[in-house]
Amino acid sequence: MPAKITSWTETTPKERSPPPPERISNHRWFTERMNALYQEMRSELPLYIQKTAEEKMRNHSLAGLAKEQEVMGLMLGGAFTHDGRIYAIVRDVVTTNLDASISSVRFHEESMEGLFDSLDDLDFEYSIVGWYHSHPGMGCFMSETDVGTQQGVFNLPHHSALVLDPLNHELEAYYIHENRVKLRAMGIYWDEYQDPYRG
Ligand SMILES: [Zn+2]
Repeated sequence: MPAKITSWTETTPKERSPPPPERISNHRWFTERMNALYQEMRSELPLYIQKTAEEKMRNHSLAGLAKEQEVMGLMLGGAFTHDGRIYAIVRDVVTTNLDASISSVRFHEESMEGLFDSLDDLDFEYSIVGWYHSHPGMGCFMSETDVGTQQGVFNLPHHSALVLDPLNHELEAYYIHENRVKLRAMGIYWDEYQDPYRG
């Protein structure tokens, strides 16, 4: 297993300012309650997803929809602190061959090695900050299996689960606190040199 994967359990976030308000947006697939949460917490979001990482997840879910398949992948980035609060940044996503049907998805065990290889190809220091998967036509929620995955694998406070419904164009994010699924406030951000929402 590559050494870098040890960052899975990295728990000492660095101090860093989050993306500024002028480079944060809601997501066009947000459900009503995700939008409400975004508006409420816009100045101190716990999760920021880089625009190109967001596009990869959305396009992945749409490609899966065309094949009547769920898709799934890992969200990579880092956890940081600012003014005493912790937040996560997603800079990229990775995926691998999947055993997928319309209602279930899981990584091929033999593909895990390939996934770790693609982690090694990334040119920034990352840690795994969560996972995403799609619910084609089923709406956004955390199934019992999803909750089990979250509790078993993504159980640090800054870990999130993102669920996309590419048919209904819906997106929600979650985390688990004291064994209860909670909605995770999040925003899309873009780097200074890219501004896809203007011009
Ligand atoms: Zn699910």
